[in-house]
Amino acid sequence: MQVEVVNVGDELLRGATVNTNAAWLGEQLTEQGVDLNRITVIPDDIEVIVEVVTEAVARVEHVIVTGGLGPTHDDRTMEAIADAFNLEMVEHEGARRWMAEERGYDPDELTPGTLDLPEGARFLPNHVGLAPGAVVAGVYVLPGVPEEMKAMFGHIAEEFIGPAWFETILETAQPEREIATWLEELERRFDVTVGSYPGETVVVRISGRDADEIDLAETWLRDRMDVVQR
Ligand code: ATP
Ligand code: MG
Repeated sequence: MQVEVVNVGDELLRGATVNTNAAWLGEQLTEQGVDLNRITVIPDDIEVIVEVVTEAVARVEHVIVTGGLGPTHDDRTMEAIADAFNLEMVEHEGARRWMAEERGYDPDELTPGTLDLPEGARFLPNHVGLAPGAVVAGVYVLPGVPEEMKAMFGHIAEEFIGPAWFETILETAQPEREIATWLEELERRFDVTVGSYPGETVVVRISGRDADEIDLAETWLRDRMDVVQR
């Protein structure tokens, strides 16, 4: 399964907020065997949101959008998603009922527009905050507040499952330039992805869909590279 994430928020672009939602989603999706192909950070601007989400939907099965929910004027995401699919924003009956029954709110006391979602959207309850999430045509719209986003993702996580992903990690004291050609050859010979991360030592990460293939690749590399035992 191929997925893209779009993080909406002026504050993310200004550097005022660190985009921890992207890192967290990247980790979750990878653990679940999903290919996260792209993460895009964009401002709270309807035109940009429409453009970026429309492009992403054409590329992958599922798009996760975070941030910019809620009824305040600077939160434009839900409206943009409605625009992208040519839908009206309407109050969601299920969201209204849920707010009253599960959260004990009088829906009429909420800021007007709080329970508006694109027409026909699937409602995603927000167990932590107020702004509901939604699913529209493969686009999952989640809150920006990390605790709200994580809780909401927890309820839909099973919709993001791909084949298992395996990896093995080796460490070497050899400099990266000495091992570079082996790593290139490793990717040519075996059906694996190889990453190297230099620090005090070089960490080599071999990953892929097939555990046996990774074992073969690891053995091949161990025969050549001086592996630091941990
Ligand atoms: P609210 O309904 O509270 O307005 P929201 O879903 O509209 O929530 P935003 O207004 O986009 O979310 O952001 C609310 C707060 O959540 C921001 O001030 C920021 O601190 C945090 N936040 C937003 N996006 C991210 C992100 N990608 N990573 C980490 N924190 C974020
Ligand atoms: Mg907001």
